[in-house]
Amino acid sequence: MAQKIDGKEVSLFIKDRVKADTNELKTMTGIVPGLAVILVGSDSASQIYVRNKKQACEYCGFYSESYELPEDTTQEQLLELIDALNKSEKIDGILVQMPLPKHINPQTIIECILPEKDVDAFNFVNVGRIMLGEYNFLPCTPAGVMELLKYYKIDACGKECVVVGRSNIVGKPMAMLLLHENATVTVCHSKTSDLPAVTRRADILVSAVGKPGFITADMIKPGAVVIDVGINRMPNGKICGDVDFNEAEKIASFITPVPGGVGPMTIAMLMQNTLTSAKLKLKRRN
Ligand code: NDP
Repeated sequence: MAQKIDGKEVSLFIKDRVKADTNELKTMTGIVPGLAVILVGSDSASQIYVRNKKQACEYCGFYSESYELPEDTTQEQLLELIDALNKSEKIDGILVQMPLPKHINPQTIIECILPEKDVDAFNFVNVGRIMLGEYNFLPCTPAGVMELLKYYKIDACGKECVVVGRSNIVGKPMAMLLLHENATVTVCHSKTSDLPAVTRRADILVSAVGKPGFITADMIKPGAVVIDVGINRMPNGKICGDVDFNEAEKIASFITPVPGGVGPMTIAMLMQNTLTSAKLKLKRRN
């Protein structure tokens, strides 16, 4: 039976570290890290994510601002708000909750956030920095996966890693971070032929597809580490990942559950990035 990777435990470990560092930063410099979270529209899943981010800010001792804007907010109005937050001394990180309503171009919005406040690490500058391995922030979900591997002393160096999914927010940066750790990385997508043959090569298999039960036991190499990034809401309201967990755990050496695996790590890494941004602000001042 695989060992379950406990994302709640690791995320708490990281948030406690951020909390302690924040306390020290406050005492030494008076700086309080500040995060602004913007939600446009009333998507219920997004509302939960925003609430969780606010709670995490409180836990870590951050200053936070949250903006819940109506669905018909124009792109110009959103850009104006971001402009004000870019100029705010109190704010170190700006997060715009995705997805946005269809009349707003997400990339335009992301590019308007100052790179030093882009704590999601989605804008061109930060994505470019990740490619070069010279980054201030890492995108929260892939960074969270790397922290899980580190906590469980799973070394990616020299391993065959297969990432299923190539989105800009998960799949591609995930592959890049594994590559920075000297793994041999294969990225799969909807046009990959004979996917099971590729996934069966993986010592570390990361699934970021968004389809329940997509990764079945026969797609997993015995003893592999299985990381399930997927978050899928079932008709009964329950959340599940991409991996057929009950069968996969009989084969894998380590496995992340959903919920309680990668999910909590994303918020913990957002807190980490916001603290990093506040520290960089101090550095620029000195
Ligand atoms: P996207 O929909 O942007 O990307 C899905 C990827 O899966 C695409 O690259 C797509 O390929 C690939 N895919 C789809 N069908 C197949 C198939 N049959 N075979 C192989 N690959 C396939 O999703 P995201 O990357 O944004 O998110 C992925 C999942 O992770 C979702 O469930 C999302 O909810 C979850 N998520 C979880 C987070 C967390 O905090 N744990 C954070 C962010 C996302 P192609 O490019 O060819 O279309």
